[in-house]
Amino acid sequence: MKVVDSIASLRALIGEWKRQGSSVGFVPTMGNLHDGHLKLVKRAKAHNDKVIISIFVNPMQFGANEDLDAYPRTIEDDKAKLIGEGADAVFLPSVQDMYPAGLDVQTFVEVPGISDVLCGASRPGHFRGVATVVNKLFNMVQPDDAFFGEKDFQQLQVIRTMVRDLSMAVTVHGVPTEREASGLAMSSRNGYLSTEEKAKASLIYQAMQKMKLAIEQGDTNFADIENSAISELEKEGFKNDYIKVVNAQTFMPAAADDKQLVIVVALFMGTTRLIDNLQITREV
Ligand code: AMP
Repeated sequence: MKVVDSIASLRALIGEWKRQGSSVGFVPTMGNLHDGHLKLVKRAKAHNDKVIISIFVNPMQFGANEDLDAYPRTIEDDKAKLIGEGADAVFLPSVQDMYPAGLDVQTFVEVPGISDVLCGASRPGHFRGVATVVNKLFNMVQPDDAFFGEKDFQQLQVIRTMVRDLSMAVTVHGVPTEREASGLAMSSRNGYLSTEEKAKASLIYQAMQKMKLAIEQGDTNFADIENSAISELEKEGFKNDYIKVVNAQTFMPAAADDKQLVIVVALFMGTTRLIDNLQITREV
């Protein structure tokens, strides 16, 4: 596996691949890789001739009081996992490479509407940071295909919208969420949880499944469904950010005749913010 740590060497490698006629699959990550990330790599391997993963903890998508400094950085372990998956290259840009003029004067990309609700409302500027870094990475890597997890469902929708609106020549693939046996969605932030907190965190998946069942059985009183999940999880010690049933395309509150819905959840367990979601397809 090639380890590429500058934009110039990345361009040389990608140029070589393209001259060979190889298709390029790309998996952007912030590292601390787990089986969820590796599932994206496996998908890319199955789809493309060459697969490259980026590892970059992007300061632009973190708020002032968030966990940028504490975010786990485990680069040697990550490289070993990527070699194990047969990845062709890993790209490790520096903050200086990505934002040479500094964040305050950085040109940005913003996807209107869906960037302002749910995680966008709780984390102002977050999706601007995500869209901007992914745009920059796409410009650098020039991938044919890019792979993102449905775990970050709103992020996936932001990326799809950006690619469509800016006519980018990349196909975006969404990959289903990888879960622990307990149902807990795998996340680098699960490492912040104590054993006891981690056991509790599996209740999120159970609560979402209960909500999904109620909706599949014809209950369209979404506010009641949301509120009972919130009170059950608050009783278990979670602090609610949001639990909502929304239209899977617009992220607006669900309507009784929406066919594609998604239950979206963001909760705090202690100081750790956990997100998850569950999609629902209805015959209405
Ligand atoms: P991150 O390193 O958290 O920025 O995630 C990098 C990519 O991996 C994003 O596209 C995430 O949606 C995806 N991802 C993170 N956790 C999971 C998971 N449990 N299952 C599937 N994909 C995931």
